[in-house]
Amino acid sequence: MPCCVPPSQPARTGAQPPSGADPRRPFFRQREGLPRLSDRLPAMRADHHPVTRSAAFARLDQFLPGAGAAYAVRRNLDHGPGHHHAVSRLSAAIGRRVLSEAEVLTPVLTRHGKDAASFTSEVFWRTYFKGWLEARPTIWHAWLGALDRIDAHLADNDTLAARHLAAVRGETGIDCFDHWIDELATTGYLHNWARMQVASIWIFTLELPWELGARHFLGNLIDGDAASNTLSWRWVAGLHTRGKAYLADPERIARMTGGRFAPVGLAARACIPDDPALPPAQPPRKALAPTPDVATLVWITPEDCALETETALHALPVKAVAMLDPGAADAGHGARADMIAQSDALDRATTQWGVPAYLADGPQALAALATECGAHQVLTGRVATGPGLDPLIAVRGALRRSGITLVEHVRAWDRNAWPHATRGFFALREQIPQLLAQAGLAD
Ligand SMILES: Cc1cc2nc3c(=O)[nH]c(=O)nc-3n(C[C@H](O)[C@H](O)[C@H](O)COP(=O)(O)OP(=O)(O)OC[C@H]3O[C@@H](n4cnc5c(N)ncnc54)[C@H](O)[C@@H]3O)c2cc1C
Repeated sequence: MPCCVPPSQPARTGAQPPSGADPRRPFFRQREGLPRLSDRLPAMRADHHPVTRSAAFARLDQFLPGAGAAYAVRRNLDHGPGHHHAVSRLSAAIGRRVLSEAEVLTPVLTRHGKDAASFTSEVFWRTYFKGWLEARPTIWHAWLGALDRIDAHLADNDTLAARHLAAVRGETGIDCFDHWIDELATTGYLHNWARMQVASIWIFTLELPWELGARHFLGNLIDGDAASNTLSWRWVAGLHTRGKAYLADPERIARMTGGRFAPVGLAARACIPDDPALPPAQPPRKALAPTPDVATLVWITPEDCALETETALHALPVKAVAMLDPGAADAGHGARADMIAQSDALDRATTQWGVPAYLADGPQALAALATECGAHQVLTGRVATGPGLDPLIAVRGALRRSGITLVEHVRAWDRNAWPHATRGFFALREQIPQLLAQAGLAD
C-alpha cells in the first residue's frame, strides 16, 4: 500500500514521507497547510513576465493601450532590459495557457479593431509553430538525437568546445551578443528581435550548430517552448522556410537598439547548414478525450494552467486536483515559472471544483492518489510535442497499471487552427478572420 493521505483525512504537512515510511514508496500529500510552492522560490518580478492569472491580466491591462498601431511600429525596437514596454511580455503566461489566446485578443481587438492586425498575427505565430511541430514531431526527436551527436563531437574538438563556451558565457567580444546572452541568463527573457540577432550570430558568425543554441535558449528562457524555440532557430538558420536564412546586420542592430551596440566582425553571408528533407505533415497525435460522468482526477501540468476556465469541463465529477511535486527550488527561470503557474492553477482548480489539491512525488504517487480518490480517469491539458511527453508517458503507464485512463483536453483554438498550420505561416494567416470568428472574436 503506498504511503498517502486520502482526501477524507486531515492534511499532512511537510515535504517528506512521514518518518518510518519507506522513502522509495510513492508519496502524495494534501496541498492545504503546505507553504505555497512560490514561497520556496527566490523572488520573481511577477509584473515583468507574469505567470499567475491575476498578474497576467494586470500585465495585459497595462499593455492594452500599446497593442494597436503603436505595437506595429515599435515592436522591433529593443531598448534593453527593463524597457521592453512596446511588447506584451505575456509569452510566459500564454505558453502555459495561464491566459488563452482568446482572452488576450478579446480586449485587444475590442479596443484597436483593424489596428490590432500586427499583434494578432504575432499571437498566431505561436499557434502556427505549435501546430506545425504537431504535424512533424520527428523534427523535435531529430533535434534531441543531434544534440547527443554534437555533445560527443564537442568532447573531441577543443576549438569548437572553446567557441561554444565563450558563446554560452557571453564572452565572444561581440558587444550585442554578449549583452543579450547576459540579459537572457539574468532575466530569462529576450525581445523577439534580439533573439533573431543572437541566433543569427550564433549560427553564421560563430559557426556553432543551431541545435546547441536552441538548447541554450530552451534552458534559460522563462517562456521556453519546444515549438516556438526549435522552429524559430530553424527559421533563422534557413531550414524552416527552406533556403531563406536571417542574417544579422551591424547597422540595423545599431539602429534598432538606439545606438547601444556597434558589433564588428559579423558574417557577411549565411551558410545554411545541411539538413534532411522535411518529413511530410501527419495528423496530430491522437489524445483520448474525457468521458462525461466518470470520476476524475485533474492533473495540472505547465501545458495548460487554466483548465478550470474551460466550460466543457465544469460538469465532470472531479474528485481532486493534483500536480507533480517539482522538488527542490534550485531551478532555472522556466522551471521556476512552471512551479508558480501550476501552483496558482491548483488554487483556481480547487475553487472551481470544490475539491482538495495534492502534490504527488511522481507518476506512481499520482496513480495511487487517483485510486484513493476513486477516480477512473485522470484529466490533463493536451500535452504537445516537447519535454512534456516523457512525464505524460510515465504517468499514463502508471495509471494503466492501476486500471485508470489518462485523458487530455484539446482546446478548440488548437483543434481549429492546427489543420492550417502544416505549411508556411501565410496559409494560416489567410485563415485568421475565420479562426477569430470561430473563437467568437469576430463576425
Ligand atoms: C530564436 C528564437 C527563439 C524563440 N523561442 C521562443 C520560445 O521558446 N517561446 C516563445 O514563446 N517564443 C519564442 N520565440 C518567439 C518570440 O521571441 C517570443 O514569443 C516573444 O519575444 C515573447 O515576447 P512577448 O510576449 O513580449 O511578445 P509580443 O510581441 O507581445 O507577442 C505576443 C505573443 O505572441 C506570440 N509571439 C510573438 N512573436 C512570436 C514569434 N516570433 N513566434 C512565436 N510566437 C510569437 C507570443 O505568445 C507572445 O507572447 C522565439 C523567437 C526566436 C527568434
